Amino acid sequence: MRVALTEPQQTRWFRGERVAWVSPVSLEELVLLKSTHPQAPLVLGNTALGPEMKFRGAVHPLLISPSRVAPLFEVTHAPQGVWVGAGLSLTQVQMVLEARVEALPQEKTELYRALLHQLRALAGQQIRNVASLGGNIVSALPNSDLNPVLAAGGCRLRVASDAGGSREVPLDQDFFRGFRTTLLGAADVLVAVFVPETRPGEFVRAFRQAPRKENALATVTTGMRVVLGPGAVVRDVQLYYGGVGPCTLRAARTGQALLGRPWGEAMLQEAYSVLLEEVVLPPGAVGGKVGFRRSLTLSLLFKFYLEVQQALALMSTTPEGVQSTTPEGVQNTTQQGVQSTTQQGVQSTTPEGVQNTTQQGVQSTTQQGVQNTTPQGVQSTTQQGVQNTTQQGVQSTTQQGVQNTTPQGVQSTTQQGVQSTTQQGVQSTTPEGVPERELSAIRPLPCCIQPGQQGFQEVSGSQSEQDAVGRPVMHRSAPAQATGEAVYVDDTPPPQGELFLALVTSTRPHASILGVDVSAALRLPGVLDVVTHADIPGHKARSFMGYEEELLADKEVSCVGQLVCGVLADSRDRARRGAAAVRVRYQDLPDPVFTVEDAVQRESFFLPRRRIERGDVCKGLETADHVHSGELRLGGQEHFYMEPQSVLVVPVGEETEFHVYVSSQAPTITQEAVAETLGVPSNRVTCHVKRLGGAFGGKVTKTSILAAITAVAAWKTGRAVRCVLERGEDMLITGARHPVLGRYQVGFMEDGRITAADLQYYANAGNTVDESPLVVEKMVLHMDNAYNIPNLRGRAVACRTNLPSNTAFRGFGVPQAAAVVESMITDVALCLARPAHQIREVNMYRGLSVTHYGMRFDPENLWRCWEEVKGRVGLGPRLEALRSFNQDHRWRKRGAALIPIKYGVAFSEAFLNQAAALVHVYKDGSVLVSHGGAEMGQGIHTKMQQVVSRELGVPSSQVYVSETSTASVPNSCPSAASYGTDANGMAVRDACQKLYKRLEPIRTKNPKGSWDSWTRAAFLEKISLSATGFFRGPDCYMDWEKMEGQPYSYFTYGACYSEVELDCLTGDYRTLRTDIVVDVGQSINPSIDIGQVEGAFLQGLGLYTLEQLSFSPGGLLYSRGPSQYKIPAVCDVPLSFNVHLLPDSNNPHAIYSSKGIGEPVLFLGSSVFYAIKDAVSAARAESGLGGAFPLDSPATPERACLACATPFSQRVPVSEPGSFTPWALNI
Ligand SMILES: Cc1cc2nc3c(=O)[nH]c(=O)nc-3n(C[C@H](O)[C@H](O)[C@H](O)COP(=O)(O)OP(=O)(O)OC[C@H]3O[C@@H](n4cnc5c(N)ncnc54)[C@H](O)[C@@H]3O)c2cc1C
Repeated sequence: MRVALTEPQQTRWFRGERVAWVSPVSLEELVLLKSTHPQAPLVLGNTALGPEMKFRGAVHPLLISPSRVAPLFEVTHAPQGVWVGAGLSLTQVQMVLEARVEALPQEKTELYRALLHQLRALAGQQIRNVASLGGNIVSALPNSDLNPVLAAGGCRLRVASDAGGSREVPLDQDFFRGFRTTLLGAADVLVAVFVPETRPGEFVRAFRQAPRKENALATVTTGMRVVLGPGAVVRDVQLYYGGVGPCTLRAARTGQALLGRPWGEAMLQEAYSVLLEEVVLPPGAVGGKVGFRRSLTLSLLFKFYLEVQQALALMSTTPEGVQSTTPEGVQNTTQQGVQSTTQQGVQSTTPEGVQNTTQQGVQSTTQQGVQNTTPQGVQSTTQQGVQNTTQQGVQSTTQQGVQNTTPQGVQSTTQQGVQSTTQQGVQSTTPEGVPERELSAIRPLPCCIQPGQQGFQEVSGSQSEQDAVGRPVMHRSAPAQATGEAVYVDDTPPPQGELFLALVTSTRPHASILGVDVSAALRLPGVLDVVTHADIPGHKARSFMGYEEELLADKEVSCVGQLVCGVLADSRDRARRGAAAVRVRYQDLPDPVFTVEDAVQRESFFLPRRRIERGDVCKGLETADHVHSGELRLGGQEHFYMEPQSVLVVPVGEETEFHVYVSSQAPTITQEAVAETLGVPSNRVTCHVKRLGGAFGGKVTKTSILAAITAVAAWKTGRAVRCVLERGEDMLITGARHPVLGRYQVGFMEDGRITAADLQYYANAGNTVDESPLVVEKMVLHMDNAYNIPNLRGRAVACRTNLPSNTAFRGFGVPQAAAVVESMITDVALCLARPAHQIREVNMYRGLSVTHYGMRFDPENLWRCWEEVKGRVGLGPRLEALRSFNQDHRWRKRGAALIPIKYGVAFSEAFLNQAAALVHVYKDGSVLVSHGGAEMGQGIHTKMQQVVSRELGVPSSQVYVSETSTASVPNSCPSAASYGTDANGMAVRDACQKLYKRLEPIRTKNPKGSWDSWTRAAFLEKISLSATGFFRGPDCYMDWEKMEGQPYSYFTYGACYSEVELDCLTGDYRTLRTDIVVDVGQSINPSIDIGQVEGAFLQGLGLYTLEQLSFSPGGLLYSRGPSQYKIPAVCDVPLSFNVHLLPDSNNPHAIYSSKGIGEPVLFLGSSVFYAIKDAVSAARAESGLGGAFPLDSPATPERACLACATPFSQRVPVSEPGSFTPWALNI
């Protein structure tokens, strides 16, 4: 660094194999370079350019880095605004604007605050730290968050070029020329942006709606500015939108219609009509969500209207200083309604726009030097020691526990954990008479984070200190995972001569392969070979349930993403370039099948279908007071494990022996696949699984196929071969959770009792069978969820389609099956206008019960979980508070749901319930354990250590589990079905008990001896210190002919209450509170089990409310990465999240009376879905709509908003289905 500072500045060139990089030092030099190389992009944050190069194959032989060109990083204050260097990062821009907001009177900073609103929500902190202002403007994303605000605010750009010198360009409608193009020429350099101050009477606001609250590109984003004259007459108005066309768009005609009109309702109605005509999206527009986006253009304008109306009302009360507004328009009034102001009556606003209200109603201000803001925007207020803000912007108030604020600057007040944003904080009507109910449109969603509770039963005082069972022991590899030391497959150092395998995938959904031309690939540097179907020495397909799945396509492909061949090169980049150079010629085959409706019509199924019926459904429907039909469509879910599919195959070099290092939850299945494919016995293939970075069911069958192909490559070349998928490829190739269409007919009595139900499930299996028939089996086995329906029929079938093959996913069909049942129950409640939890209670199993397939069980613990949740949340008063909140808020609705789960644990195929273990004790007393379970984050190795600690009486620190290996424990079953600990725990226990018994003579001889002394003595006395353990497992079965059986060992029960607040205008929501009580028997490790509960719940929340796979009409998966596919983030965790393990529960069917917990709770994430549905139902009531209504899963903001049927969404014309090709399939 010192050298860099002292050395004279000079242009630097760096030249690589394919790219050169130049770093000039002056603006003159930069513009000269740009004029000589107009096609060479400038690289600042590389956040727009980088993804294009990485994912879209863009190649730029020359990259220009202007990071040393000073004028791009200058901030210059001008009389009416500020010039901000285009090279500054968005975080730096944020700091500049925050400083202006601090320094200037509020009326001058309208634009700055609107920009800050966008900047705080734009991307995430990491991106904002590097992405530049100029990059954002010039890359001209159609949904750029800054461009609409900069344009509405009348910003100007300073542009330099060699030919034109320095000039100013207005950032307005004319600047945006089309998709990602602006009027800047290829040789132009954007130097700085002028951001003006606002004048009295001028109001600027920005709004954005995105699929997720954080780190998500906006669906629609706006910047709006109005200048009002006397009588609040509109003198100028600029309305800009992003996300409604190929580029930032100005609603000029709508603005024109407002000119000269007083700011009021009458003006607004006309504006909506013009806006609907002006901002038109074709029904098949790129990005889809057409109705939603159009509805947002209206509802965001409404928000702007109210914001200005509210600001006007507040202005009319100044200078007395009664009220004022934060940048987000959140208004706070103290308990006495007195708010202190700064000199000149201007209220201080922190950089985050956070206002502080104390219980005494005295607002802290800057005058007394109480509030400090660091350059990082870290704010701390010390008066009365009330608030602290962390760098993450999370502010918590401890004294009186009153107030918390998030980075968005949103404030909320709590009272005994119940959030109340309205009671004291907001004036009931403005002087202009904007009713309180209407103001709910502009109130920020709550974000006050409460400390979560985690409750479990402690071990009894009499338990030995050394015995780790039942104690909340930390996950064994947590520190290594947190520090990055934990080793995954791709961390394995490359063996000598290692090659990388990159896969070539089909681009057609259904086609004959006419030829594969690999010549261009083979000519590329580093490319060595190609592996095709013809190269496979052994079995060329995997067989499952009577169907064959080709490892590499030979003559035909049946989905986009199917594996065709693999390219081997000496590095992963070269292999990928090679794969991109392979040309496959196809001839399309007619009529691919994509949706379940298509499949049903064409009878395209994977057999067998499954059916269970009990009672007389027809009679039950006939005798019911009411009969209702409905359906629920559930989308699929990407596994999104953090570690993508990874395998390394190393040939030993003799006797066709191979070591396979693989991220698999089923090492034996992988071993068999490799052996069969190579045509060698299983004893030549050893699979090693150290740990997996997540699996969730997605690393069983698909992994074995990838391992088999990689093994072929290793066999063919005689060299080690590594294959690690990129996120996008992984998402494309390896399938997901099955999307399901569930239809039902239900008969019920006036009192809510369900007399009969008929359910039909169609699962979209994709192009190969995989485990789909087993998934649909589990659907009909769980179609009762927790309800005793006397006459019940369920049918399920796996539909064969031309989409990538779907596979197992945590819950294995239960999350879909039970969600359909709950949808049915919710409909019954809506039809009867009764609270849904009452309908659930009326129908839940009671007393000793029998399932629809004849399995006996006692639902006592289900009821205990249910009642405990009710008690913990205080259900009655909470629902009452919800009702009154909904009455008081026109555009904001709260909803709640209490959902039960009864989940069957173990495999219904009895042979899969067996497990084996191998325990070695060394002379020093240390213990090495091998068992058949794979460690995929669920903590199975930690629990096994605890088992050993109890059985051998040693501290668990003396026990080690190195890996799961087919050489140590053969014929293991997959770690799945929530059965890993149950099965392997028993096997480990068996081995330990054998060892303990063998040591008995030694212990008897020396009862006071230590463990180490006994093991040493045992060796000297020639006692074997190594033992295998075995567990046969329960003989579960299901007789599908008779429709009865005992397919599970036992049930895990749970109940969950969730409450949400929904913004009916945008579909945004917050989960205010979630309380889970779950029966895990006597938990072996409460901290791991609670972690499983929390993780599964969040994954379920993602499934039911957030995660959306989208496919093109040609069957191509669009959502192939985190930008297009949103999994839950920290911002989605319920604000109050409480998990309790049911105390005093016993389970005679599993080790130490514990229960399996990996999967059951995922379904409880649906409580958020049903809470949203409850809130939507309250919103519909405002439009006079009652009764049952459809809401598909996931309940994304789009679906929730449209289901609310607000006047805005109802204004948007709906295109006739079938009259256009939608952007995405509804599979
Ligand atoms: C994960 C992620 C999330 C995102 N979320 C959002 C979001 O929510 N809202 C949003 O609005 N944006 C979002 N973005 C986009 C992001 O803001 C832009 O990519 C970023 O601002 C571009 O700046 P950069 O410095 O990285 O540009 P680079 O990638 O370095 O360059 C982009 C382009 O701009 C040109 N360029 C850059 N500076 C100049 C200049 N001074 N003069 C002339 N040409 C120039 C370059 O030649 C290049 O073609 C997101 C991006 C990512 C990766």
